[in-house]
Amino acid sequence: MISLAHKIELKPNNKQKTYFKKACGVSRFAWNWALASWEKSYQENKNLPKEERSPINGMSLKKEFNKIKKEQFPWTFEVTKYASQQPFIHLNTAYGRFFKGISGKPKFKKRNKSVDSFYVGGDQVKIQNKKIWVPNLGSVRLKEFPRFEGKIRSATFSRKADRWFVSLQFDTTISPKSPPKEAVGVDLGINTLAHTSDGVSFLSPKPLTKHLRALKRASRKLSKKEKGSKARGKQKLKVQKIHLKIANIRKDTLHKISTYLTSQYKRIAIEGLNVSGMLKNHKISRALSDLGFFEFRRQLGYKSEMYGNILVVANMFFPSSKMCSSCGSIKKALSLNERVYTCDCGISLDRDLNAALNLRNLIEIGPARS
Ligand SMILES: [Zn+2]
Repeated sequence: MISLAHKIELKPNNKQKTYFKKACGVSRFAWNWALASWEKSYQENKNLPKEERSPINGMSLKKEFNKIKKEQFPWTFEVTKYASQQPFIHLNTAYGRFFKGISGKPKFKKRNKSVDSFYVGGDQVKIQNKKIWVPNLGSVRLKEFPRFEGKIRSATFSRKADRWFVSLQFDTTISPKSPPKEAVGVDLGINTLAHTSDGVSFLSPKPLTKHLRALKRASRKLSKKEKGSKARGKQKLKVQKIHLKIANIRKDTLHKISTYLTSQYKRIAIEGLNVSGMLKNHKISRALSDLGFFEFRRQLGYKSEMYGNILVVANMFFPSSKMCSSCGSIKKALSLNERVYTCDCGISLDRDLNAALNLRNLIEIGPARS
């Protein structure tokens, strides 16, 4: 048994959109109420001797909330009960992560932010063909069929700008749908994140570039602050926050690409990375690590295993860039700024596409793993 998630865009009608917004509002309210209560209890506890302190956790706050919600917050009953219950569990997890130093302190949620969400437990969700059914909400159309089958553990509804999505989590024993296409070669790049032999390229997402610039600025500022000073501590936190943001965006993008590849192709070939050689060239190595090549390979690896794709990793000396994908002749040198690959055999094509084609050809020769 394994838990798998599939995020699908929804096609809600206006009434359903209103419900979604209300449920997000209830969820946000419960979160903020819980957070405020948590902080209040913390402040009260602080001044008490240890033995008189009352424990603070999501469960105890949820109990408190449920005692008063009928009287004080009756409107929370207009949507799924999960909207006002799950935030307590999420906040508990968020504080847990904060105490362990994994993430920042939980924050209050503001209204009208570009993202919003609420959670529904699997017992209140049904999938019927290309629709999702929730009590009081009815059936909402899905833009695509769920990729998996099995027991639904949860459904998280979310908004990004004015589009609505649902992320369905399934408990399932794997029976993946067979990818429609046979084979693909993927060239990992610096300017484009990835380039496939079918000519699809994935660009580095814009927010990433923006945050990288902010990181540079913030790090420069940090280096100027006096060691051990309060201001330095503050600036350090700022830098860490940007790091976290970058890591999240990067991971998210790589997940999209690796999911796309494993759902579309039965066999996938990528290049092997010569790590030691790469790290010697600082400029390139920074760019490469920023793009998270290792993370990408890790994702492709486990997704391939899960879905039954065959992943071919080229030998790290395989000349994917220098070889002609048409006649197989190999150039002695190819500088990084030569963006077009031309060969005496008459071929002339994009450098990344040529490399991706070479990797795909490798599959057809045979899965020589390295
Ligand atoms: Zn050629």
